[in-house]
Amino acid sequence: MDELIARQGNLSKMAIAMGDDGLARYTLRAGESRLDLNARLGQTLRLSHSGAIACTHCGRATRKSFGQGHCYPCFKRLAQCDTCIVKPETCHYFAGTCREPEWGERHCFQPHVVYLANSSGLKVGITRHTQLPTRWLDQGAIQALPILEVETRQQSGFVEMLFKGQVADRTNWRAMLKGEVAEIDLCAERDRLLATLADGLADLRARFGENTIRTLDAEPLAIDYPILEAPTKVVSHNFDKTPSVGGTLMGLKGQYLMFNTGVINLRKFTGYEISVE
Ligand SMILES: [Zn+2]
Repeated sequence: MDELIARQGNLSKMAIAMGDDGLARYTLRAGESRLDLNARLGQTLRLSHSGAIACTHCGRATRKSFGQGHCYPCFKRLAQCDTCIVKPETCHYFAGTCREPEWGERHCFQPHVVYLANSSGLKVGITRHTQLPTRWLDQGAIQALPILEVETRQQSGFVEMLFKGQVADRTNWRAMLKGEVAEIDLCAERDRLLATLADGLADLRARFGENTIRTLDAEPLAIDYPILEAPTKVVSHNFDKTPSVGGTLMGLKGQYLMFNTGVINLRKFTGYEISVE
């Protein structure tokens, strides 16, 4: 299907779906073009940046990309670009200063999931239900387990802060790409952490309401990525420095393309106009 469409357009983050076999399936999205990347493994692929960048929100041309694909005015104006999205415990809706209160009500005042994942080791994270399993696939997690459900994004931030005293909240992307990641018994880690943090969770329940932070009884998910050969040394490409990036496609993990010439994080280049060969 994709052979008939001109492969040029502005990059979106790759669409990653989870197959029944547990294998992540990648689709490159550039404008209207779609390319099945799993089918391109082992073949040559080249992405060339024209120099143009369009804001993913308003579409206007921007010389630089802010906050993963926004023009500067959108970056300063949109609630989704505010620092409280990354640090939900700093939510300032109740101070009356939310950049877009209606957007905040739709996105932040709804149940969030606190999860454990294994991307480059054990980590904690938060997301909305609708973002699962996308969030884990975007991070290159090989295992994931939802552990708690909370009422709002801000509450998920407080819970995450509590967990950050015990586990990482970031991925070491080099280790994630090299694939030197040992399996973890996520259920055992969940039980250990919930016991260790019982007092802190009780304090949060006392503050927000007894039923606001609920323990989930989920099964861990295992995820496989299409990888012929993981890099032993990670060299990263950047369209700002090298407009044309490509080689033999060796693997796909998280939002990274792995070429025999190096890797590129396509998420970073959302909105960049590229052509694909
Ligand atoms: Zn914009």
